[in-house]
Amino acid sequence: MQLIDPTQFHSSSWDGSQAPVVNLVLPCYNEEAVLHETAGRLGALLDGLKAEGLIASASAAYYVDDGSRDGTWALIETLARERSDVCGLKLSRNRGHQNALLCGLMSISGDALISLDADLQDDLSIIPDMIRAFRNGDEVVYAVRRRRDADSFFKRFTAEGYYTALAMMGVEVVFNHADYRLLGRRPLEALRSYGETHLFLRGMVPQLGYRSSIVTFDRAERFAGESKYPLSKMLSLAWRGVTSFSAAPLRVITGLGMLVSLVSVAFGLWALFISLFTSMALPGWASTVIPMYLLGGIQLLSLGVIGEYLAKVYEAGKARPRFHVEAITGGWPGANTDR
Ligand code: UDP
Ligand code: MG
Repeated sequence: MQLIDPTQFHSSSWDGSQAPVVNLVLPCYNEEAVLHETAGRLGALLDGLKAEGLIASASAAYYVDDGSRDGTWALIETLARERSDVCGLKLSRNRGHQNALLCGLMSISGDALISLDADLQDDLSIIPDMIRAFRNGDEVVYAVRRRRDADSFFKRFTAEGYYTALAMMGVEVVFNHADYRLLGRRPLEALRSYGETHLFLRGMVPQLGYRSSIVTFDRAERFAGESKYPLSKMLSLAWRGVTSFSAAPLRVITGLGMLVSLVSVAFGLWALFISLFTSMALPGWASTVIPMYLLGGIQLLSLGVIGEYLAKVYEAGKARPRFHVEAITGGWPGANTDR
């Protein structure tokens, strides 16, 4: 058993003796249209926070290029040359938003790390409040969308329905929170010990525990460029959220099996009664064919759901690295390990 060394143990991520090093991490995929503006605003924000003494001068912005095919990486390299508090890392190919984010969470040190999108939809003006909450002892600070006016009706409707469905399945998520959050050193280290292949960070973080709080913001429209989350990617992330955190779909199959069996028994008894005690003929082919198709459908669906869970075991068994690093700039720390 490993005992806790009391001299090494702090009750929070940051000992409060001096301004904390708070870093920012932004996954970027084909974001050349917006990155210049984002970097300008983040640079000004960092300068202001450092001048105010809210964060240490070693704080920096970290850009993870998720295998972009446009000029994103060239832009990050230029930014890193212009400012000493900009670092960049390029993944060997597009691995998806969650893996790009994980790459940042795995390697960036400091007292706290704030993850945010590169398209300026996440309101930067709440960052000082998030840092204040951290300085007051909260080790996880969730940025939660107050209104989603900037999103289409479809996106709003499906997203809110999804959060409700997750909650009904017993998955602990923060309603209307995506991946805009601050993590202190301890939750960050805890997160690093998770080896899941298919990440759903907004489900993993609430599981970690630690003292947390919420800061609300209004989600703006994307500053420039297009969404990198088409419906297919959104559905895949949503399904990943369900299957990584809940066995509810498997239980639904069990429930469905029980229901169909009960209905069949009732139907059988009714048929027996008709043939034994009445002179009526049993109704014809529809009562045979429709349940056959229905059952066929239910069985295929159930096999599919079970297969999805099996695929998760298969992926976990392979335990392949979740990303490979191709290049770094501006002195990105600890980036020589692929995970
Ligand atoms: N992103 C990424 N890899 C991807 C898709 C998206 O790194 O494969 C980044 C993207 O550059 C942005 C963030 O993830 O910084 C959120 O993506 P986006 O704004 O397109 O999603 P939406 O806000 O439309 O849901
Ligand atoms: Mg966006």
